[in-house]
Order: sequence, then structure tokens, then C-alpha cells
Amino acid sequence: MGRPVNRKTDIGLSALKSALPPQAWTEDKDIIAPHLSEWRDKYFGHTPIMLTPRSTQEVAEAVNICRQYDLKITPQGGNTGLVGGQIPQGEILLSLKKMTAIRDINSVTNALIIEAGAPLKRAQDAATQIQRMFPLTLSSEGSCTIGGVISTNAGGNHVLKYGTTKDLIFGVEAVLASGEIYNGLTSLRKDNTGYDLSRLFIGAEGTLGIVTAASLKLFTPPPYTQRVMVGLESPEKAVALLSHCRAAGRLSMFEVMPAIGYRAVIDNFGHITDPFPDAHPWYALIDWDSASSEDGIKHAEDKLDTALNAGLIRSAVIAQNESQAGALLAVREHMSAGQKCLGGSIKQDITVPISDIPAFFKTANAAMEQLIPGCRPVGFGHFGDGNIHYNITQPIGSDRRTFLAQWDHVSAAIFDIVDHFGGSISAEHGIGIMKKTELAARAGPVKLSMLRRIKQAMDPDNMMNPRVMV
Ligand SMILES: Cc1cc2nc3c(=O)[nH]c(=O)nc-3n(C[C@H](O)[C@H](O)[C@H](O)COP(=O)(O)OP(=O)(O)OC[C@H]3O[C@@H](n4cnc5c(N)ncnc54)[C@H](O)[C@@H]3O)c2cc1C
Repeated sequence: MGRPVNRKTDIGLSALKSALPPQAWTEDKDIIAPHLSEWRDKYFGHTPIMLTPRSTQEVAEAVNICRQYDLKITPQGGNTGLVGGQIPQGEILLSLKKMTAIRDINSVTNALIIEAGAPLKRAQDAATQIQRMFPLTLSSEGSCTIGGVISTNAGGNHVLKYGTTKDLIFGVEAVLASGEIYNGLTSLRKDNTGYDLSRLFIGAEGTLGIVTAASLKLFTPPPYTQRVMVGLESPEKAVALLSHCRAAGRLSMFEVMPAIGYRAVIDNFGHITDPFPDAHPWYALIDWDSASSEDGIKHAEDKLDTALNAGLIRSAVIAQNESQAGALLAVREHMSAGQKCLGGSIKQDITVPISDIPAFFKTANAAMEQLIPGCRPVGFGHFGDGNIHYNITQPIGSDRRTFLAQWDHVSAAIFDIVDHFGGSISAEHGIGIMKKTELAARAGPVKLSMLRRIKQAMDPDNMMNPRVMV
């Protein structure tokens, strides 16, 4: 689990243990172990100690000692990150899991102040209790934390209506590398007093400081959400359908799945059933805001009728109640788990301009077939944002390890195509260590230099998540 490498480190670790209360750190290997590998078993790490501070003051104290003894820190929230940034490689692991309090919630300012280690679901539930909503929705919402979604600028299913995390935050509280505490826990919607410092921490992946709390923007929920699932022919039809569905301004979710991923879910998870009697090449899951259930069903029927007549869809299922809506969503939520059943996957999270999605698929699928004959592209996700989880699954009967060893050059080939379409090599998961080299190669000198100068100004000793992003 990692051995202290020199005497200064040893003294620093002793200083941490004597300064912090015993509940705020552990060296117990069994307790630390689950924090050293991630969901897909892609990254494994080691650390001499895990700190579990219970307050912002304790975080600041830990950071001060780490700075004094030249100890590096990797912050961790729910450990659901997909680019390896939360897994320490010898750094001090600082878990926010004991900082979960709701500090304030206010239905007049529509603000929720909550600590960084609280799961996203806790924020959603707190908002619901006062008839508000926090619209960030991810399949990992039961485990990922507020600090994690801020640090990765998470996206999810409702970006097309509400934006990514950066659009949903008033401000943050953070402990800087200097040990100072920055307090940006405002609920002001207008504040033009210089650089927006809270924003620096959004998407910073723990490289600029440790987010300890945040002030979240709450919204008034729509009276009803109408969900439908449609079967369709192709990504071309999906993009045309997106435009058709947007027309009334009520669209809040537009997720697309290919048959291979859809079947992997239906065939492997007994509790999820196929709502369609026939198979389709592609599927889309759509939400519309509605005044009531009746209004939602009427709107869906009208929209889907015209879509059917225009040849945009092959078939449709309209959820008649919340339980049916939940069953439809379950298919989408199990897409990643379903793919695991198909074998190893080389996973990418990219964006291209929405109108280029069909051309991206054509170009990328052809390139992948040439690179690894028989590989199976499973491109699904947030089409409404141009965001595709473009995952390449191993050819049937191939060796998993040999296939996964090709991760880097498969990724580089995909990123070349993404660049060709003017897209982004990371839509919502961040850079971490997985895409660090690619960012350096593709960001361009000015952007790279700005990123590095910000890092240097905020963390001159490279103490905060030092191997990540820049
Ligand atoms: C099944 C599944 C579905 C997912 N779906 C989506 C999706 O739809 N959209 C999406 O955007 N992501 C998705 N993700 C990715 C992941 O859930 C998000 O990246 C999430 O924001 C990470 O939160 P976390 O608390 O688990 O952070 P962690 O994994 O613990 O950390 C992520 C990064 O943030 C840093 N960090 C964590 N907490 C702090 C803090 N308090 N201060 C400073 N730095 C910190 C870490 O050092 C690391 O670099 C999914 C993941 C899974 C496993």
C-alpha cells in the first residue's frame, strides 16, 4: 500500500497523525483498499495514509502540514471518476467522505449550500423536499459527490436544458494549496467583481485546491415529465428527430443507444424488459416538460405521430406513469454495465457538433474496422449535447488483454477524427491521467500555456493532484 520514501515524508506523516484527530485519518489497509481502484479496474494506486477530515478547518490543517513536508495530495470524492484522477500513486489520499452536511437550503434564493463529500443524490433529495430540483442527473448519482461533480464539471442527462455543472453552481468554498480557505459560497445571481474565482475549481480535477463545500442553484421543477422511447433507423434519423422534438421548447432529455448496447442490457439484466415487440437498429429516450400527465401524453402522441409520418421513427412507447418512465430509463442507466457483459471495451467520451454526429459515426466506425477488424463500436449517450460515449468492444472470441493493450492508439485514432470535426476529446469526464498526454498534444500552445500558468500561480509547489491534467 505504498511505503514512505524518505525521512521527511516519515516526519510529515507523523505530523499529520499527531495534528489531526484519530477519526480524521487511517492507515488500515482494508479500509483504504476500495479507494485505490476504480469502477472498471483500469487504475490501481497506493498511498501511505488516507485522511478523512470532517471539517474545512481539518482540511486546511492537513494541507498546511502537507505543504510543510512536501507531501502531495490526491483528493477523492465518490471514486466514480472515469479518467483515473482520483486514484493516488503514492500521494496522500484525502477523502471527503466525512464532509456531507447540508449547511443551508433556501427556497427564496433557490440555493443549497452543501459539503463536498455529500453524494449528488443527497442534494437532489434535499431540493425535492422544498419543491425544488437540482437538475444534474448521472447514473452514478448515488455514489458520486458534490466535490467530484464540480471537479470534473460533470454533465449527464439534462445538459441540453440545464447545462453542465458549471451552469449549476453559484460558488464554492475551497482550501487552496497555500492552506488558505477561499469562501465563494454566495447565492448572488449577479456579481461582477473581478474574475469568477469559484469557476476556476469547476473542472479543475483537484489540481488547484480542495473543494470543501458548494452553493448549488436550485430550479422549480416542471409539473410533470413525460418520457418516451422510440426505435429508429440510424444516427441521421436520430439527429433529425432531435430537431423535431426540440420544436416546442419542452425537451429536457434526448439520449440515444445502438441496438448492440440495448440488447446487451436486455439480455443480461433479467429485471429490465424490452418494451418493444420488434428489434430496432437504434433507440432514443426522450423527456418533455409537461403541465400534467394528460398534457404530456397528448404532446408525446402529437410529436410521435408526425415523426412516424415523416419517417423519422419506426416505433414508439409512451410511458403512462412514473413506474413505466423508470423502467425505460433503466435501459439507458445500464448501458455501461451491459457493455461489460460483451467483453473488454476501449472507452471514449467525446463531443462533436450535433449535426456532424452521423458523419462522425461513419468515419470512426470505418476507421475502427480497419484498425481492429471485427471490433464492435458501441456509441451511445447524450446526443442532445453532441456527446457520444464512443466505446469500442473487443471482437468476439478475441483475447481481452491483447485487445485492451491497444487502448492508446485506438484512442489517438478516434481523437484525430474528433479533431477533424472540431469536437472535444473530453466531453464530461475530464482529463485525469487518461488523457493528459493527448491534451498536451492537442490543446494548442496558447491554451496549454494558460492552463500551466494558472496551475503554477495557484499551486507553485505542484502539491495538488500533481500527476493530473497539466
Ligand atoms: C456508472 C457511471 C455513470 C456515469 N455517468 C456520468 C455522466 O452521465 N456524466 C458525467 O459527467 N460523468 C459520469 N460518470 C463519471 C463520474 O461519475 C463523474 O466524473 C463524477 O463527477 C465523479 O464524482 P466523484 O465524487 O466520484 O469524484 P472522484 O471520482 O472521487 O474524483 C474525480 C476527480 O475529482 C477530484 N475530486 C473529487 N472530489 C474533489 C474535491 N472535493 N475537491 C477537489 N477535487 C476533487 C479527484 O481528485 C478526481 O480528479 C459516470 C460514472 C459511472 C461509474
